[in-house]
Amino acid sequence: MPFKKLSAKELDEFRSHLVRAQELLAGDLTQLHEEALGGNSGQDSSEPRATDTSDSYYQEFNLELLERDETTLREVMDAIERVDAGSFGQCEGCAEAIAKDRLKAMPHARYCIKCQREFERGNL
Ligand SMILES: [Zn+2]
Repeated sequence: MPFKKLSAKELDEFRSHLVRAQELLAGDLTQLHEEALGGNSGQDSSEPRATDTSDSYYQEFNLELLERDETTLREVMDAIERVDAGSFGQCEGCAEAIAKDRLKAMPHARYCIKCQREFERGNL
């Protein structure tokens, strides 16, 4: 499927989900680092976590399934940059469009499913 820029509305939606994922990941990583450093329990800066998952989108894109690591955070941040650059949704392997279902499940996807397989085989 040839890549066509997503509509402003779609981009907007993906962007806000990505930003939310970024916030969650960044927050989790900070927490993980603090715990790794022995934790400063006296300094409780925990803000009330927004746990509103009623948004229909989050039933598809389950943030719990995100790997909580810096690679994923980097991927999410890169995806936000791609939204801003207008190339979001375009496979970096074949330059074709990434299926929307895939983007919904994994908005930070860099490759279409075909290229992802190649990537995993070490061909990209
Ligand atoms: Zn591809």
